[in-house]
Amino acid sequence: MTRRRLHVPPERIEGAVARPDAPSLHYLAGVLRLAPGAPVEVFDGAGSAWDATFDGETLRLGERRPAPLPGATVWLAFALARGEKGDWIVQKGTELGLSRIVPWQGERSVVRLEPDRASERARRWERIAAEAARQCGRSDVPEVAVPGTLAAALTAPPGFVRLVFHAGAGAPIASVVSPAAPGYLAVVGPEGGLTDREVDACLSAGCALASLGPRVLRAETAAVTAAALLQFLAGDLA
Ligand code: SAM
Repeated sequence: MTRRRLHVPPERIEGAVARPDAPSLHYLAGVLRLAPGAPVEVFDGAGSAWDATFDGETLRLGERRPAPLPGATVWLAFALARGEKGDWIVQKGTELGLSRIVPWQGERSVVRLEPDRASERARRWERIAAEAARQCGRSDVPEVAVPGTLAAALTAPPGFVRLVFHAGAGAPIASVVSPAAPGYLAVVGPEGGLTDREVDACLSAGCALASLGPRVLRAETAAVTAAALLQFLAGDLA
């Protein structure tokens, strides 16, 4: 039987009791029609998960599940793209195990987000990431940043290998992976590509130019391919 999983953030978990919010309660009682006593797996989005029992209003937590082995740390900075491409990148990137997703406003991004729309969009992507985590069995949910500038997207911890993917240029991805790196930041451009100024900004921030092969991929294909390849090369898709 498929395990029922529910995301309950840490602030709604106290001791051995998790208190789902109203939409989650509706999902358990109204949509799934769970009877009291039904088993549910609860995860907090921060890496912990429990076997729990639904009592009609709350979830009684049992033993905490052992934390999964730490995976690779891969951050993806993707330029804002038209339509539902961002939704798709966030969903697939979560399934692939990305740790952090940073949307940024490219000079050639067709989409322009005002600050209030940017926060709204981040909340939408957080929900998509939480749902993808629930569905794929992750106990953590990747952070999704509020869409911002390229400069902000280039901020990463010391030692991270920073890569900028640019069609028609750069070293093969396998040659820029370092086993000792604490993590990776992959920067991918919008549909219209990166401007020279953006490539220079990435290089000045320590990025290496990296290639995804001889074909020009759509922005969303490039984002998900970079995520999958880095996860694989860093040993997380074995
Ligand atoms: N005409 C644009 C150009 O030449 O940059 C094409 C942009 S492509 C549709 C969108 C983004 O996907 C690019 O900015 C780049 O980040 C990434 N990309 C696509 N194909 C790639 C490849 N073969 N190698 C590296 N990055 C690629």
